[in-house]
Amino acid sequence: MVDVDVVVVGAGPTGLMLAGELGLLGIRTLVLERRPEPSTLAKAGGLAGQILQLLHYRGELDRFRAASSDPEDAEPAPRFPFGGVHLDFTRLGASPMRALRLPQPRLEAVLAERATERGVDVRRGHELVGLRQDDDAVHVQVRGPQGRYAVAAAYLVGCDGGRSRVRELAGIPFPGTSFPEIERLATVTAPDSVTLREDGGLEVDGVGTIPFGYTATEHGVFACSGLGGTLGVYTAEVEATEYDDNEPMTVAELRASVRRVLGVDLPLGEPLRMTRFGYSARQADSYRDGRVFLAGDAAHLFPAGGVAVNAGMLDAANLAWKLTGSVRGWAPGGLLDTYTQERRAAAERTLLHTRAQVALRRAHGPGGDALRRLFLELATDEQPLRRLGALMAGTDVGESRTDAHPPVGAYATDRVLHADQDDPRFAGLLGNGRPALLDLADRGDLREPARHWGERLDVVSATLDERPADALLILPDARIAWAAAVHEPGETAVSALREAATTWLGHP
Ligand SMILES: Cc1cc2nc3c(=O)[nH]c(=O)nc-3n(C[C@H](O)[C@H](O)[C@H](O)COP(=O)(O)OP(=O)(O)OC[C@H]3O[C@@H](n4cnc5c(N)ncnc54)[C@H](O)[C@@H]3O)c2cc1C
Repeated sequence: MVDVDVVVVGAGPTGLMLAGELGLLGIRTLVLERRPEPSTLAKAGGLAGQILQLLHYRGELDRFRAASSDPEDAEPAPRFPFGGVHLDFTRLGASPMRALRLPQPRLEAVLAERATERGVDVRRGHELVGLRQDDDAVHVQVRGPQGRYAVAAAYLVGCDGGRSRVRELAGIPFPGTSFPEIERLATVTAPDSVTLREDGGLEVDGVGTIPFGYTATEHGVFACSGLGGTLGVYTAEVEATEYDDNEPMTVAELRASVRRVLGVDLPLGEPLRMTRFGYSARQADSYRDGRVFLAGDAAHLFPAGGVAVNAGMLDAANLAWKLTGSVRGWAPGGLLDTYTQERRAAAERTLLHTRAQVALRRAHGPGGDALRRLFLELATDEQPLRRLGALMAGTDVGESRTDAHPPVGAYATDRVLHADQDDPRFAGLLGNGRPALLDLADRGDLREPARHWGERLDVVSATLDERPADALLILPDARIAWAAAVHEPGETAVSALREAATTWLGHP
């Protein structure tokens, strides 16, 4: 006997996304968060990558846009830092990498609201202090404001961050590397002695011109941007100090760091956004131990910015419907294990490019400069730029079957669908959080057998000028599980659809 279907530990972006997905699917979900109040820490500045496409398919992108810090300028120009250089995706037309400004506290507020609207019980000030599992349930020990209590659940997901207690209690190893390096990133107002140039560089009284972008020195990396009317400053330097994430960085600390790295006393104005971070590259050996799962930072830490929230929220979208199938009893054998397989493979790709970014960024001297210049030259060609964009967006998940067209296992991105970004025809395509058969060619012979899976499978029809396939079976995290080629005869397509639907959704 269980009290709830799923306990989610941690109300960060991953836990709240997961809770909202489970709530959408009607699963009784309890979120335990040890902080009594939502965090106000300036961590991620927004959402980036494939999660934006997925929110569009859920029909929810407008809600997140409305919460953005600056709706008029919500989607910044597709120019992204990558290992000490900037990649410019504007040359590709529709960028494979997108971003939405939405500071993490605001993102978490939207996600929390979305989860509670769907009936999820979010308990703040309630800390998981123990857990054990048996064949029937996970038994959780909680310390709440009124003392200790126990909860039994069918499944538990540790979304409790990089120092995950759940991971520790489950005994799951977390191998990898931590770098003895501190990065500081800030936006401040420009004082009178600093003029912001049109090209993004700075003109500093008594110092001269400091160019826009990155400057590698013997002591670390410095970058600045005077675009947008504010002064953006970044430093990275080898430093063994262990800072507490709850201890905010000060302007004086940043100025001292600029002095050490660049050798310049750069006047800084009022702080608008101040962050400091150290980096680790780690991944849990498994994301599952029986009824206990890991997601988000608890499962992986990446040594470059801008990718972690995307990865954690995509973990959540991959896991929610699989847990639902298990709670409801229709999940085919092995479905829950595909979570670890798919999301570990995706994190491997993210580790690959973020580790490479560290090497690219930290390479010093003329050799390092030459490496970055050469890399940038290569990254102006379409194919490498597309590949880098897909890696950064988290759509290169490293295991798609490329013999099928469109590739099975790949995300159904706008590019795969031959559609515009935010094509209104696909807003809400995966709005119920369930898999969908997308019929692009009025194929009644495929729609009819799909209906045998009832509420497990939505059937959606659309027309496109140029279609990539006659029909696609799309999983709730927007990955393609099966495709019928254009004009594929009914005899082969129907049996292949039945087989794919049975593999993912069990017997009809
Ligand atoms: C300065 C800084 C800047 C960043 N910038 C970016 C960025 O631009 N883009 C990006 O994608 N990422 C960024 N990140 C990383 C991003 O913030 C994290 O990847 C993200 O917060 C991870 O989300 P999560 O939900 O997995 O874990 P967390 O956000 O760490 O949430 C875990 C939650 O679990 C709770 N918890 C822990 N233990 C327990 C327990 N025993 N019981 C109950 N609750 C518990 C914690 O209180 C916490 O609320 C940045 C991080 C930092 C520090």
